Amino acid sequence: MDDIKDASVQRPALDRLLRYDRRTEARYEAEHGRARAAHLRHTIIFGILLYILHDISTYLLLPDHYRIIVLITLFVIVPCSLATAYGVAKVSAELREIMVLGAMLAATALPLFMFYYSDAPHSTHMNVEVMLCVVFANMVLALRFRYALTYSCLILFAAAFAVGMKQGVDPDLKIALCFQFASVCLLSVYSNYLFERRRCMDYCVSQEAMMRAETAETAEKQFQVMSKTDALTGLPNRRFLDERLDEWFSDDRPAAVMMVDIDHFKLFNDTLGHPAGDECLRQIADAFRSAFSEPDLFCARFGGEEFILAIRNAEDLQARHLANAVVRSIEALGITHPGRSDGVEVVTVSVGVALKRPAEPVSKSQVLSQADEALYQAKRRGRNRFVMRSEVVDPRIAVNS
Ligand code: GH3
Ligand code: MG
Ligand code: MG
Repeated sequence: MDDIKDASVQRPALDRLLRYDRRTEARYEAEHGRARAAHLRHTIIFGILLYILHDISTYLLLPDHYRIIVLITLFVIVPCSLATAYGVAKVSAELREIMVLGAMLAATALPLFMFYYSDAPHSTHMNVEVMLCVVFANMVLALRFRYALTYSCLILFAAAFAVGMKQGVDPDLKIALCFQFASVCLLSVYSNYLFERRRCMDYCVSQEAMMRAETAETAEKQFQVMSKTDALTGLPNRRFLDERLDEWFSDDRPAAVMMVDIDHFKLFNDTLGHPAGDECLRQIADAFRSAFSEPDLFCARFGGEEFILAIRNAEDLQARHLANAVVRSIEALGITHPGRSDGVEVVTVSVGVALKRPAEPVSKSQVLSQADEALYQAKRRGRNRFVMRSEVVDPRIAVNS
């Protein structure tokens, strides 16, 4: 299976900090930005409630500073966090994550500072409050990995500093506290990494699958177009012509079919060479394409130096008019044809025209062979002209005579 995969499709890359490239990041944000903001909003509100509840344990651990902690919680931490919960849906993805990081640093700084500052007998137990904040930030809020790493490093340094500077703590306890802070930071940031990596990888894989599907669809469409296009002239080929005529012959509307054949084209090739012949075919095809690319006008290369021009909703007079215009316009292109011995010095075409009249039960192949008979007459009558099928009195006599 792998060898038939399209090598041009690359899975989006992730860097070491689990960042997508800019385009993938923008697409991810467009698809998942709202869900991310909603997750942050819910978890921040949950965190605020838990934070307020923890004022009970703060009261038991630090009775001397209880009042100031409650005031800071209610008038600084809670309003800031609520503003963050409200703002996450209003700002860019980058700013959203930075706002959450800022709010978490502020919320963690308070218990950490009280751990350091308070000399209450149980103040060292404030380490648990700090560690709960770390777990909440890295695992519940699930800060983006680069911010989780930044946050954890800052908190770890601050905690190590606070432990080191704290007065009246047994040195062994200081070492144990440092281990605890380090373990919680490491464990939660590692868990954050695993979770975030899974999320990012899943998205990269889904993007790759989507790009492959898009590429396959484009290739399929290109193939469809190519399979219906003549490679030399770029005109619709016979397959496309068949489909279009089937469609036009399936209703009651009239249509005219012109079979166009280049006159003395073999001589053209013989005197000027095959590449010049190809170029001549392309010039004539361009002329047909510019005149016959409207909804009711269709042109196709029938094969060799023959083309089909078809007109829907056309009756006798209009078909005559157009056939004459086709003959004259190709002559007017003035493509030199030095090999002709009939006195004409430019490339010309002969045209046979057959009609499908309104509601006439005639098949596509019948009309094509009628156009061919008329073309034969045009050749016989001297080329560089058109003949209507209705003017071929008895086609069989005409063919055989
Ligand atoms: P007539 O006026 O009776 O139609 O004479 P003619 O020479 O055009 O007809 P004939 O059937 O004898 O020759 C058709 C020529 O068209 C022969 C062939 O080499 C040339 N031809 C067909 N397809 C191509 C093509 O793709 N490129 C080139 N250069 N020549 C082609
Ligand atoms: Mg021919
Ligand atoms: Mg010819």
